Amino acid sequence: MKNYEIQKKSQKSIEEYWSAYKYNVMERGYQYYKSVSKSLNQGDSPKEVREIIGKYLLLESSKKAVINTFYHVWGYIKDIATAEEKAKILKAIEDYEDGLYQYEMVKSLLLKLSLKYQVDILIESHYFDELLMISYDEMSSALVRWYDQNHRKLPWRETTDIYKIWLSEIMCQQTQVNTVIPYYEAFLKNWPDIYALSKASEDQVFKAWEGLGYYGRARRLMSCAKKVVEDYGGIFPEDYESIIRLPGIGEYTAGAILSISKGMLIPAVDGNVMRVISRLYHHRDNIKEPSNRRYIEKRVGEIIHQSSNLKDFNISYFNQGLMELGATICTPQNPNCEMCPLNYGCIAKRLGLTDQLPIVSKGSKKKTEIVQALMVMAEGKFMLIKANQEGLLAGLYGLPYTISKQDNDFKHIEKYLYDCFNMDTFTTEKIIMNIYKHVFTHKVWHIHLHILRTNKRVELDSQETVWVSFQEIDQYPISTAFKRVLSRYIMMANEENTNPLKN
Ligand code: SF4
Repeated sequence: MKNYEIQKKSQKSIEEYWSAYKYNVMERGYQYYKSVSKSLNQGDSPKEVREIIGKYLLLESSKKAVINTFYHVWGYIKDIATAEEKAKILKAIEDYEDGLYQYEMVKSLLLKLSLKYQVDILIESHYFDELLMISYDEMSSALVRWYDQNHRKLPWRETTDIYKIWLSEIMCQQTQVNTVIPYYEAFLKNWPDIYALSKASEDQVFKAWEGLGYYGRARRLMSCAKKVVEDYGGIFPEDYESIIRLPGIGEYTAGAILSISKGMLIPAVDGNVMRVISRLYHHRDNIKEPSNRRYIEKRVGEIIHQSSNLKDFNISYFNQGLMELGATICTPQNPNCEMCPLNYGCIAKRLGLTDQLPIVSKGSKKKTEIVQALMVMAEGKFMLIKANQEGLLAGLYGLPYTISKQDNDFKHIEKYLYDCFNMDTFTTEKIIMNIYKHVFTHKVWHIHLHILRTNKRVELDSQETVWVSFQEIDQYPISTAFKRVLSRYIMMANEENTNPLKN
């Protein structure tokens, strides 16, 4: 009989077994908790209670589970295992029940047979994980060696200068490294150190950032530079507690900056690292949950601190190695396990589960908005406005716009122009529906472009407005969404051979 036929036949009993087993463990844990909690002093913390229960579950219930598991593996393989294997397992059951056989050896034997005969339901439980694991020492040395020989040459990898490392980390958030390289180099040319950057104007920095997206990063970059200069005399603090309080620096960035530039033994866990660790250690919980993120950070911290070669441990290469592995080999789809330096100890690979891990919950659906963008032309130029300091496009220039409920809500547009710009006379020359769809992290804009003409340019005190020709738009930091709208419009106008700004 083929393996899958045996598995199918026994599927029901296996499922029943596992639910009974889980119930058994929980019930016994609960009873035990009730008995110990009576004897605990009132001052005992929940942590101690949890530890007592944890030990109980580990020692007592797993012993019982080993015997049950034995019988189940036996149930699967008794018709297909070799005579020698059958003899070995029967003896192991007997010896284990008599207390003669070591727990780890029993588990190891079960694992070997389960893998050989594909007893999936047992393998996929967490039951065998600790036996499959690669040791921390092996893992860290294989990774550091691999990184040393294989990492991509990137400009910020040639330095340990904390200013440059910080700059590269902020720029690389949510952005491909190849996109970042020219921006990084231009920034260093313009502002070679933190003093220079702290004196730059918002418009200058936004202009240099143009095209990199997520402008909030640029804003926090400037605030951080100013704070480091004002509060720390231009020298980045070198302790975790202080650096994490700086604008734009979260746990990952703090870990990356301090480990790469100062060699401090701190994990740096980004999305790539979460994926590698989830697969390597068969972590089956949703990594979007903060508690599971903590679990992965803790596991990386353990690897760092328990690697016995700690004295020579290259934390910079270790942290960068994990990230690099996730970016180049252990990719979200089709990981290249054959080239992975950790493949011999990776649980997901051994169990054939790489396409199922990590588990990431589907985020909530993005909100969709209809945006009526207005190109208001007068006297050969059109109007740009600078957004407020708060909000989505804060501090950047763009076309005036209003969000409406329907595609063609002209009354809404008229009201907007009158309320915001005191503009009541204009003609509509053209409307281009759906000129561009812009996806932000939390919402999607469907942008319609209205070409309007008015007689006189308005200048407002409350909102910064500028009137520009198409040749002048490069002088202003324009948000990506509107930059795309403008370039599409220019392209269309060129194709149609029309001059949009003729009087
Ligand atoms: S063996 Fe495959 S799944 Fe496992 S860490 Fe390496 S690339 Fe990722």
